[in-house]
Amino acid sequence: MDNYRIETKCIQSGYRPSKGEPRILPIIQSTTFKYDTSDQMGKLFDLEEEGYFYTRLQNPTNDFVAQKICDLEGGVAAMLTSSGQAANYYAVFNICEAGDHVICSSSIYGGTFNLLTVTLKKMGVESTIVDPDASLEELSKAFQPNTKCVVAETIANPALVVLDIEKFAQAAHSHGVPLIIDNTFATPINCRPFEWGADIVTHSTTKYMDGHAATVGGCIVDSGNFDWEAHADKFPGLTKPDDSYHGVVYTERFGKKAYITKATAQLMRDLGSIPSPQNSFILNLGLESLHLRVPRHCENALAVAEYLSQHEKVAWVKYPGLKGDRYYEAARKYMPDGTCGVLCFGLKGGREVSVGFMDKLRLAAIVTHVADARTCILHPASHTHRQMTDEQLVEAGVAPDLIRFSVGIENKDDIIADLEQALVTV
Ligand SMILES: *Cc1c(COP(=O)(O)O)cnc(C)c1O
Repeated sequence: MDNYRIETKCIQSGYRPSKGEPRILPIIQSTTFKYDTSDQMGKLFDLEEEGYFYTRLQNPTNDFVAQKICDLEGGVAAMLTSSGQAANYYAVFNICEAGDHVICSSSIYGGTFNLLTVTLKKMGVESTIVDPDASLEELSKAFQPNTKCVVAETIANPALVVLDIEKFAQAAHSHGVPLIIDNTFATPINCRPFEWGADIVTHSTTKYMDGHAATVGGCIVDSGNFDWEAHADKFPGLTKPDDSYHGVVYTERFGKKAYITKATAQLMRDLGSIPSPQNSFILNLGLESLHLRVPRHCENALAVAEYLSQHEKVAWVKYPGLKGDRYYEAARKYMPDGTCGVLCFGLKGGREVSVGFMDKLRLAAIVTHVADARTCILHPASHTHRQMTDEQLVEAGVAPDLIRFSVGIENKDDIIADLEQALVTV
């Protein structure tokens, strides 16, 4: 892609039609693709030639959208998945197997926490949870000879901890493993983790990227910067022959695209969490206005955070864009143009009062969602993080009275008026 600015990439990256082709991204609604000779198709199966043969592995509509997200993040290769969960699962499992170990920030999305500490554990991958604010020395203690990656979020959902990406990258790299960053909340509009040393970025595109709560989806982007061959013994899946493809060695054959090619050729082939081309089309429409929506989310969220922080019935407010917030300085460094549209707060009187207040809201809807155009609200301790013990909740930065408020792109005065009328009743 030409060296366009990010706003232009939102519109122009990915699908570029040539003469006589559809002006906008076509939905290639086909499971399969035709060839003229048996030999042509055989070469695709051996990964000797690039091409489409079955949508479980690759589909042009999906690939064009992946290419756009890849450009937005400044990566070299990307793949879409059917959900953010699948993206994080594949991102980790692509370089781990039974007997391996991963390090994960404690401030992380509840689904990712379960994935790593429960489901991957059943598959033989152990994890160590670390405090995102730990010092480099403390982080170093978490590494083991079988550690294969470090996982964290740019802005943690819902704890709103801003990660010191440089510190985490340094810890990971000094132990010869990549840093995987879930960049869902910041989006590449506000932060591009590769510029700070992250190696792989994941997204739940379900959130701001789609932006309209229309489709569930995920994405993995590789920076191409991690040198797998320098740590060949740690990553045999990438650097040693793959028997399921007649002994292909991904790093030799695919260079900087080795990681994404392996994820496509092995994980999509065997596990199959592909998005439908229809959903990728909808995601692409969302991406075309991402650069317009994200600043508006941030502007509205800051206004709401300022309003709540001055309200007598509000016990506390967390928003990394708010002056005085614990992560304000980190946010200034990593996201100078804004953070996200999500903030958290608790009401005086604790858990019960907070829950009662939510039922009084009219504009803000109670939904299991976050980061879309409509203002919405959730109580993680009763909803998304229900499976966690109170101890785990505190460790994840989710106070039992925490209300997660996702500020939409409506008029901010209407959002504040809705909060006001509900606060009067408590
Ligand atoms: C929502 C979310 C996920 C999971 O994504 P789904 O698309 O719901 O599967 C992962 N990480 C973060 C930070 C999220 O907000």
